[in-house]
Amino acid sequence: GKLVFDFAEGNRDLKDLLGGKGANLAEMTNLGLPVPPGFTITTAACQAYLATGDRPAGLDAQVSAHLAALEEAMGRRLGDPADPLLISVRSGAKFSMPGMMETVLNVGLHDGSVAGLAAQTGGEAGERFAWDSYRRLIQMFGKTVCDVPGDAFAHALDDVKRGKGVTSDLDLSAGDLRALVEAYKKIFTEHAGRDFPQDPREQLDMAVEAVFRSWNSERAVLYRRQERIPADLGTAVNVQSMVFGNLGADSGTGVAFTRDPGTGARGAYGDYLANAQGEDVVAGIRNTLHLDELEQLDKASYDQLMDIMSTLEGHYRDLCDIEFTIERGRLWMLQTRVGKRTAAAAFIIANQLVDEGVIDLDEAIGRVTGAQLAHLMFPAFDLSGAPAPLGRGVAASPGAAVGRAVFDARRAVAAAGAGEQVILVRRETNPDDLPGMIAAQGILTSRGGKTSHAAVVARGMGKTCVCGADSLDVDVAAGTFTVGGATVREGDVISIDGTTGRVYAGEVPVRPSEVVEYFEGTAAADSSVLVAAVDRLLRHADAARRLGVRTNADTGEDAARARRFGAAGIGLCRTEHMFLGDRRELVERLILAGTDEARSAALAALLPLQRADFVEIFEAMDGLPVTVRLIDPPLHEFLPELTELSVKVAVARARGEDAGRDAALLAAVQRMHEQNPMLGLRGVRLGLMIPGLFAMQVRAIAEAAVACAARGLDPRPEIMVPLVGAVQELEFVRAEAEEVVAAVTADQPVPVLIGTMIEVPRAALTAGQIAEAAQFFSFGTNDLTQMGWGFSRDDVEGAFFSRYLELGIFGVSPFESIDADGVGRLVRIAVEEGRAARPDLKLGVCGEHGGDPDSVHFFHAVGLDYVSCSPFRVPIARLEAGRAAT
Ligand code: ADP
Ligand code: MG
Ligand code: MG
Repeated sequence: GKLVFDFAEGNRDLKDLLGGKGANLAEMTNLGLPVPPGFTITTAACQAYLATGDRPAGLDAQVSAHLAALEEAMGRRLGDPADPLLISVRSGAKFSMPGMMETVLNVGLHDGSVAGLAAQTGGEAGERFAWDSYRRLIQMFGKTVCDVPGDAFAHALDDVKRGKGVTSDLDLSAGDLRALVEAYKKIFTEHAGRDFPQDPREQLDMAVEAVFRSWNSERAVLYRRQERIPADLGTAVNVQSMVFGNLGADSGTGVAFTRDPGTGARGAYGDYLANAQGEDVVAGIRNTLHLDELEQLDKASYDQLMDIMSTLEGHYRDLCDIEFTIERGRLWMLQTRVGKRTAAAAFIIANQLVDEGVIDLDEAIGRVTGAQLAHLMFPAFDLSGAPAPLGRGVAASPGAAVGRAVFDARRAVAAAGAGEQVILVRRETNPDDLPGMIAAQGILTSRGGKTSHAAVVARGMGKTCVCGADSLDVDVAAGTFTVGGATVREGDVISIDGTTGRVYAGEVPVRPSEVVEYFEGTAAADSSVLVAAVDRLLRHADAARRLGVRTNADTGEDAARARRFGAAGIGLCRTEHMFLGDRRELVERLILAGTDEARSAALAALLPLQRADFVEIFEAMDGLPVTVRLIDPPLHEFLPELTELSVKVAVARARGEDAGRDAALLAAVQRMHEQNPMLGLRGVRLGLMIPGLFAMQVRAIAEAAVACAARGLDPRPEIMVPLVGAVQELEFVRAEAEEVVAAVTADQPVPVLIGTMIEVPRAALTAGQIAEAAQFFSFGTNDLTQMGWGFSRDDVEGAFFSRYLELGIFGVSPFESIDADGVGRLVRIAVEEGRAARPDLKLGVCGEHGGDPDSVHFFHAVGLDYVSCSPFRVPIARLEAGRAAT
């Protein structure tokens, strides 16, 4: 097949085959922009090479044909002694992997062609340039193709400079560089075990193979894993005639963006370095100039560059970044692509492009993501006065956290309880650390990556986390970590930046997110360019979306915040939180009740407390639906821990004291102990086992609604029964609930819906039956995922998920994004059969997936009515629901 494409044969839609760089070089060529001619070897050729270790059949001949055409067009032959054509051999994958793979410049130079290159350029400057180019080739080729350590070359260069008493490369003469070439060749031979290849075609073939291989370099593999780029794509190789930015003061090289990728500000932005080649700009060898300063140096090239940049923006209809080189006053384009940008810039630029009439609002919301919006909602460090970071780890969960370092979860809980802000520092975390993680402002670990327990849990909680900071030597027992000679002790204040992965000693000042201030209503919609952009795009998403967005909230305060953030009701109000704290004792009384009277008394004591909770929530969500889930978790969660209690009772008895109440508690705990509590007595099963429990909750809900309605409010309760697997379960609960509701609302009618969660696979598979008894379904995708896969979320994430991700069994944790093929299929079945049985069935989702961008798109596609997520995810779900609909 065709393994090589001339630049003129490609276009920007061929990224799969030509890689991003190749496809865009082709696009620029076809736009008539000044691109040095060349051709692209496809990713298919790379895949074949990586599979077999050999260049695929036909590749050499195709390269020869394209090379001949290139030589013809340029009027020079590769490596010709009198007038050599030189080429670059450049990597370029489908997705940009900046600096992860290899590129070799100046291929075609050898002992026989240096003089020719010098003569073509002319004079002493020509000599100098030719030897400089040759030494660069040996260095790059040695490093990338033959694994010669880069230090060896760097030392040789330093030696020559020291010998001459100069500091800049530019102060070396042609003679110095010639001597350097000799030294470099020796280094090459020494490390590569062969002489530097003098045959230009051999140089080319070896460089092509090295670029192929660089796809699997350690850093490329790591980068792909981080960015979730598939491992089997391979890279294309671009072979391009060289242009020279190192031909003197009228030459140079630069990088530029058509807008500022950091702030989104309009106007070209970039760096330029005179008399330099290739990577000198990024390598920071000399100080670069601002792009504006090029105007003074070379107005014609500058003007042309500005022209080209506006052509590119017009053509790509987005911010572009470019690489260019000026050779003796002539401008050449070496690369372009739609540029990466910060989250803030993404919103600002999308908004600008709408103003400029380049894109419409539908397209604009396609240019930003929920993940970017999430990013903008975290507080950030004000880095103006920040010290140098102590170290750096994986930016696992964004945000800026400051607190005292604490090395133990229990101590973290204690310190937080005493009002301290703490950062939990561990080598790695496990489920035992959870209370400490919850109590902490942020989590710092020295081991593990983005999928480690710490990272996964922190993201789930929206908590700042830096993990895998492996330069930190964490000694949990001693309560210290050391890094670069500094020691941080328990109690010392540190700051961690979950957005950059940086760790600082001391307190770095934090500024709140202006986007959150806007959602909260404390900043106006036009308070900044960013806020104005977010406001406009989000309003458009709201207008475009079909999915409703509700929130998961258990308190009036959360409900009110979510409402400010745009939630249209509550999709999940968990009632078990209402049994904690001071009320624990009442629950203990309920569980310990030996008689019907004792049980009724305990329930009666809980009733007014629950009712008050619901009143608060109905007030906050006045006029909007509130789905209340009846109690779900196993009851023993409200009792003391077995071992602890056993010890307490044993100690009391050993002292000859009366263990009394504790002994009774212990008996209850032992009685209720379960091997698999999540598959045990919980949810509807509990409601059927403990007479009066659900009835009390239903009464509290109905009475709260009646009380609100009597005050002229508009409460809209929806009672949700958890963990139903069979319609019969629901029928029992429903009959009882309807009776209670009818009695309570006799004088003050309030509409109360009764529905169920679909979270047991059997419920999804019998949804047609269940819909006969349910006015709504809410998919509990956390449990549905747990039970669908048969693994317990609390146990597996730390245990083997990272291995599964590594093996590619999951692309992403099924708890993070819904598994569309499996668990998603259960959802589809339930939607179809439920709607068939009851056309007006309301359908929503209340698992954490409700705030996950990919999952929101899935729920839109299967036709749910709404998603529900935590208050802070509400704007993200709104945006993604809008994007899904356009
Ligand atoms: P990366 O993908 O890491 O940016 P590139 O293939 O873009 O690698 O090349 C690295 C550097 O070499 C860039 O600065 C580029 O401008 C320069 N370069 C590549 N090809 C040529 C060429 N044909 N002429 C001049 N400079 C080149
Ligand atoms: Mg580049
Ligand atoms: Mg559940």
